[in-house]
Parts: sequence; C-alpha cells; structure tokens
Amino acid sequence: SFGIAAAEKSTYARVQVSSALGCLPTELMFTSGGTESNNAAIFSHAAKYYRAGKRIITQKSEHPSVLEPIKRLESEGFEVDYVPVDNGNFDYAYFKKSLLKGACLVSIMQANNQTGCLFDLKKIRESMLETNSSAMLHCDAVQGFLKTDLDNARNLCKYCDTVSISAHKIGGLKGCGALFIKKGVRFKPFIVGGEQESSLRGGTENIVGTVAFGAAVNDVCKNKDYAADILARRNEFLQQIDSALGEKIKIFIPKNHINSILNISVAHVKSEVCLNYLSSRGIFLSASSACSSRTKENPTLEAFGLSKEYIYSSLRIAFSPFNTSEEVKILVDALKIASEL
Ligand code: PLP
Repeated sequence: SFGIAAAEKSTYARVQVSSALGCLPTELMFTSGGTESNNAAIFSHAAKYYRAGKRIITQKSEHPSVLEPIKRLESEGFEVDYVPVDNGNFDYAYFKKSLLKGACLVSIMQANNQTGCLFDLKKIRESMLETNSSAMLHCDAVQGFLKTDLDNARNLCKYCDTVSISAHKIGGLKGCGALFIKKGVRFKPFIVGGEQESSLRGGTENIVGTVAFGAAVNDVCKNKDYAADILARRNEFLQQIDSALGEKIKIFIPKNHINSILNISVAHVKSEVCLNYLSSRGIFLSASSACSSRTKENPTLEAFGLSKEYIYSSLRIAFSPFNTSEEVKILVDALKIASEL
C-alpha cells in the first residue's frame, strides 16, 4: 500500500506537469533532468527515423546536452547542418534549403540559456510543413518552460514531437525533468532494464523529485505575479545600469527573448574577475551556463555573432520572481565598482 500511495502522488504530479505543458499525462516521461531528456529524444529519433535522411539540423547556440549527442551521431555517420542565428535571428531561408536535402531530426531550443533568445517553434514547424519535411522536431524547452505565455510557447507540444523540460529551472529539485513524447511518435528507450514509465525508461522512480516538480509547476501557475515580477526586476536593472555605467556596459538583447535571462558585458573587465568580486559581495551571477563553465570558449555567444571583447567580459544574469528591488540596486552598485577594477 505504500507503493500504491507513492504511485498516486506521482500520477498527480504527472497530471500537474503535463497540463502546464499542454499535453496528455500519458505523453509525459519523467527523467533525471533536461540533459537526459535531450539525450533520450535525440538518440531515439536518430535510431527510429534515420530512413528520412541521415541528416540532423540544429543551431550552434544549443545547450551541450543537445550538441554533444548530435556530435556523437555525426561521428557515427550522420551529417549535421547548423542554421545561422546571427544576432538572434534564425535564418529561415537557410533552414528551408537544408530541409529540402532531407533530414530525420530538427532540434531547436525554445529559449537560449545564456541570452534568453527565443526561437519560434511554430514558424519552424511551418517551414517544415512547407518543405514537406518528415523530420522529427525536438525542442529543448528547459529555459523557456513557464517563462513566457506567448501563444507559440504555450502551445509547444502542438508544434513539436518531443519537448524537454527540467524541474530546477522553475523552483523544483535538481535531478528531475521530463520529456514530452507526442502520441504516435516511435521511441527507443534510452535507459533499459525496468518497466517504469510505461516501459519507456527503466529505473526506480524519483518520487520525491516528481512530486516536487508537480508542486513547483503548481506554484508558478498559481502565482499571477510570477512573470510580472521577473519583468519588473529586469526593467529596474536596465534603467539603473544605464545611468550608473553608461558606455561601460554592453547588453545583448535579442529581439525575441524571455525576461528571466539577460546577458551583459562590462567593458574590459574579465568575466571571472567580475564574478569573483560580485561573489565576495554575496551576489551570484555566471559567465556562461553551469554545464559549460569549465571550458574557455563560449560557442553560444559566438553563434550569436558577439565580438571577442564582448565575450571576454560577458555575464549572465538570471532574474527570479523572488529577487527584490533592493537586490537589483545592490547589483547595480556592485557592477559599478567592478567596472573600475
Ligand atoms: N538545456 C538547457 C537550455 C539548459 O539551460 C540546461 C541546464 O541548465 C539543460 C538543458 C540541462 O538541464 P538539467 O540541468 O536538468 O540536466
């Protein structure tokens, strides 16, 4: 009976998460996070749909949990084409030309983790329909999930065949995520050895993680001020930083973006130097994403066409609805001092 009680709680969480994502509970597979969801989707599509063409279309600012599985497939004989995204503008003409050469998979994220740049999955699907492409469309929605209520974001599951999300981006626990797998899409399990998750993913379920995921989704959806609070802090920051630092600050804001992520660059101050100073004052930003913070290069910002000077000093701010106006002011004051280091 303990097992049944746990399963009921997990079922409830599945209903909460799937309804927020806009899919059926049976279309949602819980995973260990966004990384696993992306790996599982990409390897499955390549294995099940390669007959549509051993080609994969993606873009260079994708998260490493998308780019690395694709690189592995490339080493196993798949061809990979990267759509230019200069300045945050997805090159649809290039994309359509590439689709005409045949492909089994298109993998484009919803929102970029370093710049907040939003990609329009509705338009991407339209291009695929226009070119009669039979490729699967996968979307890494880890950063965008519940961060925008634009129609084409809310209806992601309508346009995509698989969608990855992660609990810790919306206040859930680390080590838990989910993959939407559209009804009818053929799926090759990534983790085998158990009948859990309708035999799609083996392994004892992470009940604590999934229940917390459901609760976190519920909290975000119930909080009517969630998006407005994030936007308010972002706007306060943008107004204050401009008068405090003037020419010393460069900000990359793609035309379409989520409000929770902002990429800035403090002229001539190396990212790490700035981060260390801010950290000593109890302010925690990052220079890239946690997953790629150990490498020196920043292919994501390069993909957007940002200059070497910008990248040298780039910082990524993540606004939460729990940040206060006072914290924004502290950050701006600290950045002003950091800009003179
Ligand atoms: N995709 C994006 C865009 C991310 O930002 C992240 C994590 O930061 C991931 C995937 C990986 O998700 P997880 O940390 O749940 O493995």
